[in-house]
Amino acid sequence: MVDRRSALAEPLQLSTGVCIPRLGLGVFRAGSGEGTRNAVRWAIESGYRHIDTAAVYRNEAEVGEALRQCELPRQQVFVTTKLWRDDYGYDNTLRAFEGSLGRLQLDVIDLYLMHWPSPGTRVETWRAMVALAESGRARAVGVSNFTIDHLQELIDATGIAPSTNQVEIHPFLQQRELVLYCREHGIAVEAWAPLTKAQRLGDPVLGAVASEVRRSVAQVLIRWSLQKGFIVLPKSSNRSRIRENRSVFDFSLSDEQMARIDGLDESYRTAPGWDPSSTP
Ligand code: NDP
Repeated sequence: MVDRRSALAEPLQLSTGVCIPRLGLGVFRAGSGEGTRNAVRWAIESGYRHIDTAAVYRNEAEVGEALRQCELPRQQVFVTTKLWRDDYGYDNTLRAFEGSLGRLQLDVIDLYLMHWPSPGTRVETWRAMVALAESGRARAVGVSNFTIDHLQELIDATGIAPSTNQVEIHPFLQQRELVLYCREHGIAVEAWAPLTKAQRLGDPVLGAVASEVRRSVAQVLIRWSLQKGFIVLPKSSNRSRIRENRSVFDFSLSDEQMARIDGLDESYRTAPGWDPSSTP
């Protein structure tokens, strides 16, 4: 029998067959230059094998440099980056992809995402993303911050569902309907701001569960996401917190603890301007 605690250390298989590590380091605001380079190096040292960046974070080059310095075989690390909305449109997408590849010093990107459901050129952009996957230069393609309507539009137009949807998810914003839709359509859910951008770490329910399992609130939040079946992307630029956030495969939350945390949902967004539901 697979150990319940460590089973989630195994990668998740996306609908296209590509395997993605369930825990990745987020590098949004990890700092320019040395900040991002160190975070990536410390993450790899601590056992992370998945880095989540984006063109708009302006640190793809630092991610690429740090990965090169780590000298891991390429196939042992999973790299996600994202296409910013200013680069939408078929040809622009192909061009922007080359830019990201160059900055990351890679030949292939493991997962390439449309960062935001901006209206106008969504479908043609998605067609370019699919072409990148078909060419093998992106091993998988997906989207980020898409609502059910946005996802359905891509599926209706092309018959091809994104392999992942990266959205804000934590106990205070569980997006249950969207998660269910994604499950039904074979779209893996990636959780951004899984630590609530550190805004809700003082919550008493989380604190109580953390003392019961003798872990930090951050570890409880990450473990909750993993047990929910999400790919989880905590960000830290601090060496010991990077390590702490990876130490989540040697304990588990009971069904009762999960249910108590499930009870915290209140549609709370950590970044109020970053709500895609009003994007037509
Ligand atoms: P997180 O929920 O990951 O929170 C990050 C904050 O938590 C930082 O202030 C960090 O500080 C702090 N922190 C990290 N670990 C701990 C710990 N163990 N104890 C206490 N505090 C801790 O927020 P993010 O917004 O960064 O989301 C994570 C990742 O998701 C991003 O980096 C990015 O990759 C992705 N993302 C994607 C978006 C999208 O639109 N697709 C939008 C936003 C994020 P410190 O660094 O000092 O440790």
